[in-house]
Amino acid sequence: MFAHDTVAALVEATDLVNTLRDGADLLPDAAALDTFLVDHATSRSPDDLAGLAAVQALRPRLRAVWTAAGRPTNLAALVNGLLRDSDARPWIVDHGGGWGWHLHVTEPTAPLAHRIGATSGFAFADLIRMRETERLRICDAADCDAVLIDLSRNRSRRYCDTGNCGNRQHVAAYRARLRAG
Ligand SMILES: [Zn+2]
Ligand SMILES: [Zn+2]
Repeated sequence: MFAHDTVAALVEATDLVNTLRDGADLLPDAAALDTFLVDHATSRSPDDLAGLAAVQALRPRLRAVWTAAGRPTNLAALVNGLLRDSDARPWIVDHGGGWGWHLHVTEPTAPLAHRIGATSGFAFADLIRMRETERLRICDAADCDAVLIDLSRNRSRRYCDTGNCGNRQHVAAYRARLRAG
C-alpha cells in the first residue's frame, strides 16, 4: 500500500490538524510543540521550537486539504500550494535509525513548518495519484470536528482517535435503542 514514510507523514499531518479543534489549541507553546515532535519521531532543534507560529499557521492549510478531499481540482491546488510554499526539494536518503531508504523532501536545515508542509504535501500527492483521497475523513461523531486518515484495509474507519468518539457513538446508539424499545 503506502510507503512507510508516507504513512508517518499522513499520521503526523492528521495529529497536527487535530491540535486545533473544538475551539481548543493543544499546541499553544514550545513545550507542547516539543512533545508533539517527540511523539512523532520528528527530528528537531532549538531553532525548530522557535518556529511554533509557522507550524500553528500550517494547521488551517492542512485542514483545508481534508475539507477539499472530495473535490480533486481544489485538492490539487492546495497540495501544490503546500509543496511550493515549503520549498520542497525531494531526495532519497538512508541515515540510519531503522527507516531504510526513504524520501526527504526538504533540505535538513529547512524551517520546521517547511519540513512538515513539504512532507505532508508529498504524502497527499501520493493519495491523489493512488486515487485514495477518500481516506481523508472528518470524524463522524456529531460533536467532533477532528480529522482522521483511514489506513484500514477496507476503508471502514469512521471516528477519529483524539478521544473516545467511537465508544461515545456506540453508547449513544445503544441508549437510543433502549429508549425506542
Ligand atoms: Zn529520514
Ligand atoms: Zn471524533
